[in-house]
Amino acid sequence: MKNSTHRSHRFALAVLLCGLLSACAGSPGSGRLTAPPATPPQPEGASAITAKPGWVHRRQAVAAANPLAAEAGAHILRAGGSAVDAAIAVQMVLTLVEPQSSGIGGGAFLLHHDGQRVQAFDGRETAPAAATEALFLNDQGQPLPFATAVNSGRSVGVPGAVAMLAMAHKEHGRLPWARLFEPAISLADKGFAVSQRLHTLLKDDATLRNDPVAKAYFYRADGTPHPVGHVLRNPELAHVLRQIAANGPPALHEGAVARAIVAKVQQHAGLPGRVSAAQGRSQASSHRSPEGKGTPMTLGDLQRYQPKQREALCHDHAAAQRALRICGFPPPSSGALAVGQILGLLSRTPSAAAALEGDAPSANWLHHYAEASRLAFADRAQYVADPDFVAAPGEQWLSLLAPAYLDQRARLIGDKAAASVTHGQPGGAVSAWAPMPAQPEYGTSHISIVDARGNALSMTTTIEAAFGARLMVTTDPSRPGGFLLNNQLTDFSFTPRSAEGRPVANRVEPGKRPRSSMSPTLVFDRHTGELLASTGSPGGAFIIHFTAKTLHGMFQWGLTPQAAIDLPNIGTLGGPLMLEAGRFPPATVQALEQRGHEVREAPMPSGLQAIQRGTQNGHSVWLGGADPRREGIVSGD
Ligand code: GLU
Repeated sequence: MKNSTHRSHRFALAVLLCGLLSACAGSPGSGRLTAPPATPPQPEGASAITAKPGWVHRRQAVAAANPLAAEAGAHILRAGGSAVDAAIAVQMVLTLVEPQSSGIGGGAFLLHHDGQRVQAFDGRETAPAAATEALFLNDQGQPLPFATAVNSGRSVGVPGAVAMLAMAHKEHGRLPWARLFEPAISLADKGFAVSQRLHTLLKDDATLRNDPVAKAYFYRADGTPHPVGHVLRNPELAHVLRQIAANGPPALHEGAVARAIVAKVQQHAGLPGRVSAAQGRSQASSHRSPEGKGTPMTLGDLQRYQPKQREALCHDHAAAQRALRICGFPPPSSGALAVGQILGLLSRTPSAAAALEGDAPSANWLHHYAEASRLAFADRAQYVADPDFVAAPGEQWLSLLAPAYLDQRARLIGDKAAASVTHGQPGGAVSAWAPMPAQPEYGTSHISIVDARGNALSMTTTIEAAFGARLMVTTDPSRPGGFLLNNQLTDFSFTPRSAEGRPVANRVEPGKRPRSSMSPTLVFDRHTGELLASTGSPGGAFIIHFTAKTLHGMFQWGLTPQAAIDLPNIGTLGGPLMLEAGRFPPATVQALEQRGHEVREAPMPSGLQAIQRGTQNGHSVWLGGADPRREGIVSGD
């Protein structure tokens, strides 16, 4: 294993130079987007790059996107808690200290291994019962501008993170539920220091100030955000967390908090979370809501929310370092399928065994990676949606990862970029769906935990865009603070049907869960079944690439988790090939362009965390890595 520290320093230097020379495109979050419009936006803006040392723990480890959250998780493990107990404490602290990314107003996927089996706990947000496929169409039947839909009451899905965590706690918790809320309640009461990243995102956000509750909490009287280090107290969140600690998910899904959520969604000044009469008329769905009466979020929706357990998607993958069994989250996430396809296709190209060129992959490898990704994203657009509404091709999702299917798809990868790429026919599927048009996907957070009893988990949690729908819920406006609501429904296709009327698999339907890219991943030794790693990232659809890169780095290139995370980010969603700005030599860009790729360089602020089994001085240890592009650490013992 290579030492990651010098890599991280070089990385920080490269990105710093890029900033000084103003040679690189900004991110939309920063309001400095200089690249042409075809460049897919990154979900959250970039903030500081901070080299991370990589961590080594002997018994247990908690990797999370904010030090206060990771430490709360480690504290729970030391108190005898399980990995799930620690994850609950981490999530509650993240709601407070990383409010832009995840929280009790959002949803999450948790993959858990108890030493025997892998379980997939689905806490994805759902569309309210009255939502129709016209949810994001205007009166003329055209898709709403993306930003208008995000910043509205209409984008809010019924939150599922808390209910899902309660379900996992019932099976795998060791400490009492209420105990797990203590770190967050205490921090919310006492206050926490506003971090650099939170401050930067608050400064750059154009719309959060429009919400009076958020404005009063996050900003000073002159409209500027609280400075870095300012001690921010959130007594309203402490109040809500006390209720959830005492009464469980019903304290969120019923009663005063539920009423406050519904009121917030329905009373949005610009675009409330209800279907207008005109929309009722224009929509083509058979799931027609009563005209003008459709209120996409009601108390009944909140009350009815059910977390689900699904079968984890596991497949074999031969990496240079080891024969692996990679387990990920099934649909409604597209993550595991796309990551598995990319790695599987790449292993069938001439770049399968290619080494790194210095600190970065070669142009040749990037070409093969990009072509594999384009094929994977074509299948994703065609097939993946909520499995309770949409059948898997060939009746099983694993048809998309079947070796014979991957062999056939890999034959489409040549020396030049393919002029166009379409979906395949996994499991012999003849699809009646129309492919989903490309659409932005935006704040999310990743948590990886291993405990001393042999439990491990990988959980990705989100309120979708940075600060979600920019709606802050309070049950008592005289108490400062509250929590933010997600805009997860914008992960559905705004366009429900093709021009010929063919439905898109991921269109809005009542009670449906929007397709996700979240890719919480657990990796095992195929032969012994031993857990080797837990990883995942935020990043919208680029999550798939960030996760694939880290897995390839750890298991193909033999890097430590930290060094794998530090590798330059790359990826395509089907359009231009994105390269992380300041990380590739001009010769690489030229070589890719000569092969027909449209290359764009921009900051790509992933938020990867990873924990991997390793050895040190003959002892088995947990190696931890956290993304230098965000504020995470790996705490443990
Ligand atoms: N909403 C996205 C998803 O579920 C994640 C957004 C992000 O990472 O910023 O796939």
